[in-house]
Amino acid sequence: MSSKVCEAIRAEVKSFSPYTAGKSIDEVKEAYGLDSIIKLASNENPLGTSPRVQDAIKLYADHAFRYAQVGTPHLIEAIAQYFHIPEDSIVTGNGSDEVIDMLIRVKATPGKNNIVAFDPCFSMYKVQSRLCGIEFRQTPLRDDFTFDWDNLLNLVDENTSIVFITTPDNPSGYAPPVEEIISLHSKLPKECLLVVDEAYMDFAENLDSYSMLPRFTEYENICVLRTFSKCFGLAGLRLGFGAMHPDLAEYLRRIRAPFNVNILAEQAGIAVLKDTPFIEETLRVTREGREYLTKELTALDFNVYPSLANFIMVEAPVDGSYLNEELLKRGLIIRPLVKGYNLSKHLRISIGTARENQVLISALKEILNAE
Ligand SMILES: *Cc1c(COP(=O)(O)O)cnc(C)c1O
Repeated sequence: MSSKVCEAIRAEVKSFSPYTAGKSIDEVKEAYGLDSIIKLASNENPLGTSPRVQDAIKLYADHAFRYAQVGTPHLIEAIAQYFHIPEDSIVTGNGSDEVIDMLIRVKATPGKNNIVAFDPCFSMYKVQSRLCGIEFRQTPLRDDFTFDWDNLLNLVDENTSIVFITTPDNPSGYAPPVEEIISLHSKLPKECLLVVDEAYMDFAENLDSYSMLPRFTEYENICVLRTFSKCFGLAGLRLGFGAMHPDLAEYLRRIRAPFNVNILAEQAGIAVLKDTPFIEETLRVTREGREYLTKELTALDFNVYPSLANFIMVEAPVDGSYLNEELLKRGLIIRPLVKGYNLSKHLRISIGTARENQVLISALKEILNAE
């Protein structure tokens, strides 16, 4: 960019490229001249917005002119009760993306510290680290997308301020047993924070074998991230939280923007945690859909990776970009993993409703037979 104002821009920022989200429904409608679209690309809740959330938003619509209460105490109370964790350990954010950003700015000093993660990993860890001028170190996942802890630990030194892991992982859906996470933690320097991003943990069965949320209070330097964007169906309202040692939480509260969680997100969060039928139905549809898609896709010669999340990663029997293009023509949006992940044969498919999953399988049968 040649404008004068951009000559004096931070060097880190010049090399950035914007986040690449999945294609939007409107984009695909327009490009392919279609009326109806099925979007299985962004791991959103297939049931839509909870009815109780819709009521809460209507009820609080006339409060939109008010600032929210700083720190959203009613929401914190609701989260503490639902997840059985202490209130003073919780920091809410405008999506868990914002909590990631706060953690990095609080923990890492530019020019001194480094941050460690696997490759590929969720893009925000890297974006926010580099924006803060923090060295970002990565080690590849194993070929089967499991975690090589020794390689991760090899990157850690006395200047490592944060290690990020995602479980269940995105885009593979893999989750390591919780004992492995505890073992990793025991080998980290005490000053280093282990951030366990559990954006998709709600979908895992047998939570006790995988989640650090019931145990993080036993350790000073573990932070668990959760989001309302996936299982709770509030992606568009932006709400997430981190659970961490109260002293660290206090530092995040000092630096955060005072009204980072807006009043509608706050009320929606409180409402959805009370909507047990919605949450139970979400889990049922996701788990049944995951099983159905795994069975059908395997029968179609896809290599399906086992997943504990609300998406599955597959390796296609034919070229991934071709398959993606043919699905778009038929109004189906999935997530190719070339951009951002550099995986040309792999695709990530969010679990839809039973009907959406069936439409996907029929389309794939048609495409593969026509080849
Ligand atoms: C979706 C997702 C998040 C959550 O993002 P929000 O900002 O809460 O919408 C965090 N981590 C991972 C790995 C994700 O896939």
